[in-house]
Amino acid sequence: MSDKKKILILHTGGTLGMDLIGEPGDAARFKERLIKYAPRIFELADVDVEILFNKDSSNIRPSDWVALARRLDACMEKWDAFVVIHGTDTMSFTASALSYMILNPTKPIIVTGSQRPLMDARSDAPRNLIYAVELAVEGRFKEVSIFFDSLLMRGNRTKKLSIPSFGAFDSPNFPPLAKVGANTEYATTSLPVGPYSFDPRLETRVASVSLFPGFDVETFFSLTEKNIKGLVLQAFGPGDIPLGEGSVAHLIRHLTEHGIPTVICSQALYGRVDLNMYETGRAALNAGAISAQDMTWEAALTKMMILLGHGCSLQTFRTAFRRPLAGELLELP
Ligand code: ASP
Repeated sequence: MSDKKKILILHTGGTLGMDLIGEPGDAARFKERLIKYAPRIFELADVDVEILFNKDSSNIRPSDWVALARRLDACMEKWDAFVVIHGTDTMSFTASALSYMILNPTKPIIVTGSQRPLMDARSDAPRNLIYAVELAVEGRFKEVSIFFDSLLMRGNRTKKLSIPSFGAFDSPNFPPLAKVGANTEYATTSLPVGPYSFDPRLETRVASVSLFPGFDVETFFSLTEKNIKGLVLQAFGPGDIPLGEGSVAHLIRHLTEHGIPTVICSQALYGRVDLNMYETGRAALNAGAISAQDMTWEAALTKMMILLGHGCSLQTFRTAFRRPLAGELLELP
């Protein structure tokens, strides 16, 4: 019997498995292609490959997150670690959602993908796969992470920042878990240990709006009639909203009065939302808005879906949203 670690690669789609003209590859031939173009991964571990689905990640829906989370939960005991192949476009949403559905995973779950298809001579896929498998085998970080180019990052802290660059992802408000180079540098941080739990319930009737000067608030008052259960606003700087004529504070108050949470994220990538910094933020706070603190938009939106899926009332949502579920925010004392 092999003494190598057992790794399950779960393919969900994206550029990595596409052919050279960008068509999703033939799922059945995928393992053959891995053997041909990324043979080293089979030296590093005992690798099993499974095609869960084969989608451009722009077409991934919350039901796909649930299917993926269910598969990982079902496989948790049987494999030593998991590498999920996923398109880059919505990878951060999937990693965030998984991190809340599978709390305190007992094995590493590393999501990766590539900017160029595996078959392309200049592809970044073999490198990303080799490091993802190597870090999975090492097993230092038992959480949902993303490996891309040279960084292993906490999944719910990531963002796709570049369309063309091989280093497409970053983790703006949290240091990488590992940085690979001639030698790998590891962070000393790890998630607090807690009991494993799996709960894939989520609420999909949420909305998100990016504010801009001249934003017409009237258009959004009917959100309550549309049966929206939560709203994420991408506001300016530290969480500021336009006041005065057509004040966004009216919309926040209206939703709050209907028991619908409004979360405020920032359009800025770095730093923390602070609704007390300016009058334009305080008005949002007084109207009932909830700060996303240093969470990414993706982490905040998926967390809203999860908490509402758990049946949180506005009051319990407020308390639960402020606290980290899976390292997605830094709680201030
Ligand atoms: N559209 C592709 C996807 O997200 C892009 C990629 O994989 O890089 O599935």
